[in-house]
Amino acid sequence: MKVLVLNSGSSSQKSALFEIDRRSCGEAPEPLWQAKIEWSGPAPELVVNAASGGTIRDRANIVDRRGVIEHMLETLWAGKTRVLGSASEIDVVAHRVVHGGPHLTDPIEITPAVKSTLAHAGAFAPLHSRSELEGIELVDRLLPRVPQVAVFDTGFHRTLPRRAAQYPGPYDWFEEGIRRYGFHGINHQYCAQRAARLLDLRLESLKIVSCHLGNGCSLAAIQGGESVDTTMGFTPLEGLMMGTRSGSIDPGILTYLVRETSMSGEDLDAMLNRQAGLLAISGLSADMRDIESGITKGNTRAQLAFDMFVHHLHKNIAAMASVLGGVDVLTFTAGIGENSAKVRSAACAQLSFMGVKLDADKNSRLRLEGEISSFDSKVRILVIRAQEDWAIAQASLRIIEHSRRGQGKSFFT
Ligand code: AMP
Repeated sequence: MKVLVLNSGSSSQKSALFEIDRRSCGEAPEPLWQAKIEWSGPAPELVVNAASGGTIRDRANIVDRRGVIEHMLETLWAGKTRVLGSASEIDVVAHRVVHGGPHLTDPIEITPAVKSTLAHAGAFAPLHSRSELEGIELVDRLLPRVPQVAVFDTGFHRTLPRRAAQYPGPYDWFEEGIRRYGFHGINHQYCAQRAARLLDLRLESLKIVSCHLGNGCSLAAIQGGESVDTTMGFTPLEGLMMGTRSGSIDPGILTYLVRETSMSGEDLDAMLNRQAGLLAISGLSADMRDIESGITKGNTRAQLAFDMFVHHLHKNIAAMASVLGGVDVLTFTAGIGENSAKVRSAACAQLSFMGVKLDADKNSRLRLEGEISSFDSKVRILVIRAQEDWAIAQASLRIIEHSRRGQGKSFFT
């Protein structure tokens, strides 16, 4: 089985091809082929790596988005990164869809009806939705016989109880779709399952606080494998301070700015999503590596940005723990969570009252993933490598295999 994953973001398009057989559940294999397009910069940059050793890194001289994605996909079956004899060897194409809106939660095979529901849900995340629908249309055209599946980043949080999902605004908001959805669900769910496996404990018995700390940052409170609260809400702007996003601020600031300045909705959106967070406070960079090196050079704004990031982080971890009524496992994942021993150490230091005790040596030496709690910590602390594309590939395969079995067929027979 060959599953192609398309993971389109507002500023980049990632893609990976996995080969899956009956035994390959659990451990994430290396993909056969991986590609990324960065849309920022003077021209889109394409980077492709094939397991066979072939690589491409160039600036595409095609300007239209579809043309660049098509060019990226062609590197699967042509040129030095070729890993397929032809496009027809692909069995399933899986798309990460950021926002499923109120009606789409579970992974689903994409039909014309699903496409139209997706188009309506686009109002909730216009930037992402445009590139997701573009990807689906392109695959329809290039690989018309290949089934496509949508896997939703909001889906894992469908189990949020109403008291956590409803905003204390007008009662009717909920029915109108203005509610807390939560994001990073594909990775939060993967981390919870991976944590149980690494610790050899039953997921059903665990209270987990999952910290996804990358360009976007969110926490999830997970009980018995289900999300019961999370820090992101209606959009991926709520909650923690992030690279360029503010996280939660007093909404009164927005009404003040609209009233007292000439800022439009679009201006506010740009300010809170792209010109806030670590970038705005440090005046240096949205990248935690630059913040940490700024601190070593005595940059006081970098120090403030770091301190604020950690403040919001441990405050919200404690909030998630209180929702769970305790915590057994704390997991760190994504770019900052996996790589910044300093962030993990500073956040955990403030959580010692909850029985969180980091092993400083394990924390600073860790490579990739593993346990970093001290032997007497009441809470097990793990670093887990994000494997979003692999989780998407597995989810899509399950749904396609299920529908094939319903028709008396299977990919694996
Ligand atoms: P992601 O969205 O998961 O790709 O995470 C991207 C972010 O991870 C970057 O913006 C950096 O802030 C952060 N990051 C990556 N590597 C490191 C590192 N070695 N130390 C600290 N932060 C890192």
